[in-house]
Amino acid sequence: MRAATRGTSESVVSGAPAKPDGAPASGRTGPAGFFPVRRKVLVLLSFVGATMVVLSAFFVLHLYNTQVKDRSRSRAESFTEVLAYAAKQAKSPTDLEAIVRALAATSRIELVAVADSGGTIVATSQQDWRGLGIRRLLERRPLDVLASTPDGLVDGANPDGRYSDFARQIALPFSKAPGIAFIRLKTSASVSAQRAAAWSLLVWLTAGVIISVLTISLVMQRILVAPIEALRVFADQRGASRLLTPLGPPDEVSIVAEALSDAFFATSQGEALLADLAETDGLTGLGNRSHFKAKLDREIAKATRRGGMVGVMVLNLDKFKDINDTLGHSSGDLILQRTAEILKICQRKGDTVARLGADEFGVILANIETPEDSVEFANRFIRAVGAPFRVGAHELHQTACVGLTIFPQDGRDGEVLLKNADLALSRAKQEGSGASVLYRHELHLRAMERNSIERDLRTALAQKQLVLFYQPKVDIHTGRISGAEALIRWRHPERGLIPPDLFIPVAEQCGFITEVTQWVLGEACRQNRAWQQAGLTKIGVAVNVSAVDLRRPDLSDIVAGTLIAHSLSPQYLDLEVTESMVMRDVDVVIGTLRRLRSLGVGIGIDDFGTGYSSLAYLKRFPVKQLKIDRSFVRDIADTRDGQIIPKVIVDLAHALGVSVLAEGVEDANQLEILRSLGCDEAQGYFLGKPMEADEFEAFLRRAADGMHPDATVREIMAVAPSKAKVVPKRPVRMPGSAA
Ligand code: C2E
Ligand code: MG
Ligand code: MG
Repeated sequence: MRAATRGTSESVVSGAPAKPDGAPASGRTGPAGFFPVRRKVLVLLSFVGATMVVLSAFFVLHLYNTQVKDRSRSRAESFTEVLAYAAKQAKSPTDLEAIVRALAATSRIELVAVADSGGTIVATSQQDWRGLGIRRLLERRPLDVLASTPDGLVDGANPDGRYSDFARQIALPFSKAPGIAFIRLKTSASVSAQRAAAWSLLVWLTAGVIISVLTISLVMQRILVAPIEALRVFADQRGASRLLTPLGPPDEVSIVAEALSDAFFATSQGEALLADLAETDGLTGLGNRSHFKAKLDREIAKATRRGGMVGVMVLNLDKFKDINDTLGHSSGDLILQRTAEILKICQRKGDTVARLGADEFGVILANIETPEDSVEFANRFIRAVGAPFRVGAHELHQTACVGLTIFPQDGRDGEVLLKNADLALSRAKQEGSGASVLYRHELHLRAMERNSIERDLRTALAQKQLVLFYQPKVDIHTGRISGAEALIRWRHPERGLIPPDLFIPVAEQCGFITEVTQWVLGEACRQNRAWQQAGLTKIGVAVNVSAVDLRRPDLSDIVAGTLIAHSLSPQYLDLEVTESMVMRDVDVVIGTLRRLRSLGVGIGIDDFGTGYSSLAYLKRFPVKQLKIDRSFVRDIADTRDGQIIPKVIVDLAHALGVSVLAEGVEDANQLEILRSLGCDEAQGYFLGKPMEADEFEAFLRRAADGMHPDATVREIMAVAPSKAKVVPKRPVRMPGSAA
């Protein structure tokens, strides 16, 4: 479950790092036009700072201008003051000469002049100006302006800015009328001093502005930008980051942080609950299929990195439907819960147990070293589940089957591994309760082959690709051909001759076997009748029927119809059923066999000795012959022990009044021993391989008077006459048989 992170108003987030420029971590809050607060504040402060620097510059310029003017003016005032005083004392212009020269000698004055009321310069620091009109110095300032400001100082313009001219009206006692005092000041020296002062002021002001803007931006960053950015990261990650750094005093940001944090917490709680529900099986509390798949993917990724193996086990309860049907669904639920508990107890550290479906459980076996380890664990699970237990008044033994598959050998992704485990499980189900099957690559190949066989088989009949081969059966004691077994083959246009073991099981599984059996019955009867009509030795032909056929209630009707259709007497048709077939659904099978037997058709039990017959049932089967499985015949000459089972079968058959045939006789030695054991008939490559109809017909033709045509075989029969009791050729009525 995802851990939800709760935040409080005193904290702010620190989480996934924001991009350096403050861009958001995901696209949700960061579309193309996103303009972060930090940048906004920087732009604003830069703008304010720049404005303040410009304003300072204007201010300094203004200050500079006024100061330069004021200084010149106050100097001019004091100098003209001195001149005015000196003029008041002077009796003639000559008295002024001394003061004029003294003033002109100061470094700041360029020119001093005194003019009478008529404007004529009467005293001056530059002698060549004497007698000239003061108007030339005053330029555009007319005399009447001076007259209108009797005590005031009038400043004159100076085009190149190096000087400042000042003039004022002064009293001139020797001239009876007021005169004019004129002073030209050198401004350049004072201006450069002022300019330096103004520059230094400007620098200080700019530095002040920059420092203040930086200080303000630092404060803004701390109290506004950082909390807002942290909040943005928090919102961007929907509360996945943690609230750590103090927000400072409560403000709008902290309120939003708290509201967001609460909303995310509620959402994450809800999401976690939903995720839990979506991944849990309600009945057993185990993870469900999607949880299993996700976990499997993670284990595969881990094993890929580490280079280990992962076992995938699918366990299915046997006949669980019967429990639901007979004991009810609540008992079924109890069994499922019990199974879940057992699996949980049995699992190792690191394993994962889940319920994949109705009565199907999955286990991920992490860290296994060999595929065989997984089989061992699977058997442990099967044994534990199979222990007896009680449900109400019933004692139950719940068996289970297991399909196993291994990463990486059986598949590299979870989907494939689960599919292969299912395939192995269906194979285990075929093997019977309590089976565990490890998936192998061949299984998959076989399934693929099975699919193509199933597809082609349907056209095989129509296109006459199925053929019957006939293998002779020989009476061991007389050497006569006692019959033949019809064995089907499929002449496949691409694959050649396909043996029945490859396609009969497929035909059985897809239900097509009924058509196949009907065809074999018809063809065998037709061929046998044809041979009889051709004047050949009359023999019985045996047809193999499958378990599916045997369960059909109308099998005896089909057989009867076929015999009539081909005008064949029932004594020339035998049916072979395997021992394991008749031991399933015994009552149904006995009914069918009795009906067939009552038609006069002979019944042989094929592959006898491999199917664990119950002797009690065997007595009740209306059979004509037991066929000793060829696996016993193969071992018969190797050891003395090899003869024990064939001997027991021979004695049992004779005790039941049934004849015995040995299959798979491949050499004279085997034939000899079988004769000595009292076996009645034999079949095998030594006596004749399965042959096509033409070949078998030729074989029959060579068998003049019905004796085996091969000289060696005839010789054996003649040289070593059997000491065993010969059972009557006519079928013996079995106890309990209706026939
Ligand atoms: P089966 O009925 O036990 O047939 C005997 C099998 O043993 C035949 O294999 C035969 O070719 C083989 N055989 C005979 N003599 C020897 C021998 O000396 N040595 C060895 N190694 N094998 C020998 P086949 O023809 O491949 O048939 C296999 C099985 O397929 C049959 O076993 C039978 O169960 C089934 N089958 C054959 N034809 C049909 C059919 O028409 N319908 C059905 N339902 N099953 C059939
Ligand atoms: Mg057979
Ligand atoms: Mg057989």
